[in-house]
Amino acid sequence: MLFTGKLNKMRNYAMLTCFAGIGVMYIGYAGFAGFLGSLFQSYIFMSIFLALGLIFILGSTVFYMYIGMLSSKALQVECPKCKRITKLIGQTDDCMYCRQTLSIDPKHAPKPNGTTV
Ligand SMILES: [Zn+2]
Repeated sequence: MLFTGKLNKMRNYAMLTCFAGIGVMYIGYAGFAGFLGSLFQSYIFMSIFLALGLIFILGSTVFYMYIGMLSSKALQVECPKCKRITKLIGQTDDCMYCRQTLSIDPKHAPKPNGTTV
């Protein structure tokens, strides 16, 4: 995976869910068209799979909206390692570009004597 960070991971899941929905709908259609044998050649089979696929796609749409809301509320910080602006979800998250783990939790802050925990 090229990018990391919770936002990108969630986007990947949303995209996979969307593809899964299209896949399920396609299976429904393929069954109806007779590609999977005469056993699946029914309106009921196609209806169930089309409905399932639609639920998957609707689910991923809702998921995308949720990610968008999270993204707009996310804390923007400059990554100390790659100097690019990344977004933090929660207290600890990975940099979206270089996978550096970043934290705003005070217990991870550098100690005055220069060591990090
Ligand atoms: Zn970085």
